[in-house]
Amino acid sequence: MREFKVVVLGSGGVGKSALTVQFVSGCFMEKYDPTIEDFYRKEIEVDNSPCVLEILDTAGFVVVYSLTNHQTFQDIKTMKDLITRVKGTERVPILLVANKVDLENQREVETNEGDGLARIWGCPFVEASAKNRTNVNEVFAEIVREMNVS
Ligand code: GDP
Ligand code: MG
Repeated sequence: MREFKVVVLGSGGVGKSALTVQFVSGCFMEKYDPTIEDFYRKEIEVDNSPCVLEILDTAGFVVVYSLTNHQTFQDIKTMKDLITRVKGTERVPILLVANKVDLENQREVETNEGDGLARIWGCPFVEASAKNRTNVNEVFAEIVREMNVS
């Protein structure tokens, strides 16, 4: 079985822990200690192939902002440069995630802004909600696909 290592990045409070815990445990954590950086391991099937995901190491990068907070979108704009510098290559598997899509009435970042940044980065873009599980599986399936091609 193939193993993939994934890092989830983004500003504090955007929902990195909530997305990861929702994916691995199937529950929404209203409060999660911001100082805890955990290591998760889960077996899933993506496009009919079983694989093991290790979340929080350095290979695939899931970059998260909150669509209810425009500052968190600004914060991650330079992250692609940082990642490519750290990895020493442009060919790094990256996925851009707009979290909290359940809070549509508090939206500060339009879908086309996220789309535009993903196009500049040359990576896929997903709008998700850790709260109601919207696109949570897609986030992690998509990063596996990115790692499969790179
Ligand atoms: P992290 O600092 O990026 O790990 O953020 P957390 O996962 O700790 O989430 C920060 C806050 O946002 C918590 O109060 C979560 O309950 C809340 N939160 C996270 N994801 C969502 C979401 O998809 N929808 C809503 N409504 N709240 C969310
Ligand atoms: Mg956290």
